[in-house]
Amino acid sequence: MKKLKDFEKEINKCSKCGLCQSSCPVYHATGNECAVSKGKFVMLSGVLKGDLKLSDKINSYLDLCLNCDKCSKFCPAGINVCEILQTAKYEYISNKKFFKIIKLFHCALEKFINLANRISEPFRVKSLQSKRAILYFKGCANKIYPRTENSLKKLLNKAGIELVDADFSCCGLPFFSSGDLEKYEEVKARNTELINASTSEHILTDCASCESTLKGYGTINKKFVNAETLIAELGLKFKFKKKQKITFHRPCHIEDTDFLEKILQACENVEFIEIPESCCGLAGEFIFKKPRIAAMLMKKRASEIKNSGADIVLTSCPACVIGLKTALFGTKIKIMNMLDFLSNAEIIK
Ligand code: SF4
Ligand code: SF4
Repeated sequence: MKKLKDFEKEINKCSKCGLCQSSCPVYHATGNECAVSKGKFVMLSGVLKGDLKLSDKINSYLDLCLNCDKCSKFCPAGINVCEILQTAKYEYISNKKFFKIIKLFHCALEKFINLANRISEPFRVKSLQSKRAILYFKGCANKIYPRTENSLKKLLNKAGIELVDADFSCCGLPFFSSGDLEKYEEVKARNTELINASTSEHILTDCASCESTLKGYGTINKKFVNAETLIAELGLKFKFKKKQKITFHRPCHIEDTDFLEKILQACENVEFIEIPESCCGLAGEFIFKKPRIAAMLMKKRASEIKNSGADIVLTSCPACVIGLKTALFGTKIKIMNMLDFLSNAEIIK
């Protein structure tokens, strides 16, 4: 496992250009320079020089982050921001007594998800057997409640594509973002082994956060394909009985949304309204650690969606579904996973 000092060169690459500020949702909401990667690197550079020590205060600034990785995408120096921040976090918290509690919680969470996966087995749609088979990374949300998995299988059964399951662990994002890098490395090793051993050329995901985390491993030898991109390329048509006024919430972790245009063209009776990009405010444990800022982000997102006049907001990340449901609580606006929405239509091949 890497140490903070292994990233010294990387941290020194930061030119303090400030471009990351334009992309950081937490900086936008708070105006706090310590929220964005530039400010965090100033602190961590001080730690590496010995001028500062990792402390509760610095740890609290490290927590001021959604792990959305938007700043890395903007950074002209190409710095892998989240890996550095979580390494610093691990270095600080791994010697603390409460780290044992975090680890116990993660073990309990894993056991609960595996149990839920077994209990929900009879409620899962069966994938048809086909020569066109693809390895499927079933995220934790589907293990607990297989609604989106069932929608995906319904759509792919129609197109004659089989989903091949494997006994994957959680992608590791919840462990990574809380600084439990030991657990993250454990699940990364297991998932890498299972994925790389498969004969499938591709690995299919239906969660933007899982896909981004798996890509972040840097160890997978398969091509990634997200469920919406695959659906968009299959040439299916979706006929809705009643007119649907929809918008789309782009999850922070999604790489591209090129599928959207193709899917919209394949839908009959759908009116699409565009909304600006912004975070739903949930971001895993961020909502518990920084509830005031999470509430600010949710309020902003809710007003953007309400102003659009859409009746349904679609997205492609189960965590965003929860974030949007929280943000839009008490309104009549429906929040749905894109795959669930499409599977409700009459599907024409
Ligand atoms: S965009 Fe990159 S180089 Fe510029 S201030 Fe932010 S982290 Fe530093
Ligand atoms: S990962 Fe997201 S929230 Fe964290 S510093 Fe970068 S842009 Fe801001």
